[in-house]
Amino acid sequence: MSKEIKELLDKIEDFFRYQEELNLPVFASESTSEKTKAKKLNTEFIDYYLKNIEEDFVKANSLSELDAMINQCQKCPLGKTRTKFVFGVGNPAADIVFVGEAPGADEDAQGEPFVGRAGKLLTETLKKIGLQREEVYICNILKCRPPNNRDPLPQEVEKCEPYLLKQLSLIKPRIIVALGRIAGNTLLRKNETLTNLRKNIYNYYDIPLFITYHPAAILRNMGLKTTFEEDLIKMKNYYDNLIQ
Ligand code: URA
Repeated sequence: MSKEIKELLDKIEDFFRYQEELNLPVFASESTSEKTKAKKLNTEFIDYYLKNIEEDFVKANSLSELDAMINQCQKCPLGKTRTKFVFGVGNPAADIVFVGEAPGADEDAQGEPFVGRAGKLLTETLKKIGLQREEVYICNILKCRPPNNRDPLPQEVEKCEPYLLKQLSLIKPRIIVALGRIAGNTLLRKNETLTNLRKNIYNYYDIPLFITYHPAAILRNMGLKTTFEEDLIKMKNYYDNLIQ
């Protein structure tokens, strides 16, 4: 067997092993963080997935190029109802990426994620834990607003998630934070309560994934604010440990 074929088979085996593990929680044990540290900015699994997509956007070399390539998207009916395509905002080399479910009314009007009341709360909370909005990256799974803010449909996620994967492949973050039950369950293909989702650190295409409250949930119940902040502090401590 040639060396190239052997390498390819090893990669395929790794990929399937990883697929099997994808939905299993990865606990933040010491060994996990050691493993992640050693792997550093590995988007091999995402790149492997993208390699099988025969569309121009996978060839984008930067976020702005990607935005230009996809912001006229009409792959699902949301293309007809959106006001603005909401690509994402922030540091193109961010170590931490926040992912919400889909743009709301303010985001649809302005073309930027998390700019409404919930977004302001997110920005304030980030500041509180020592992160500026500009140093992280913020985006959504869906780039277009679902009418009346309904939950994303599986066929919309199927069309839009590859865009998120391409964003992640360009940014190469060390940590992803999913905001809310819908975002968390959608990324992990689970159907869990947020209480359960918050308990673990997961693995999304080999990138550590934290799941916490959607800031809109905090606005509805300010009693959750401290827990939300504690979740983000935990994530920040994990990150600080990772880059030491
Ligand atoms: N909710 C989300 O999930 N994303 C936004 O951008 C705004 C509100």
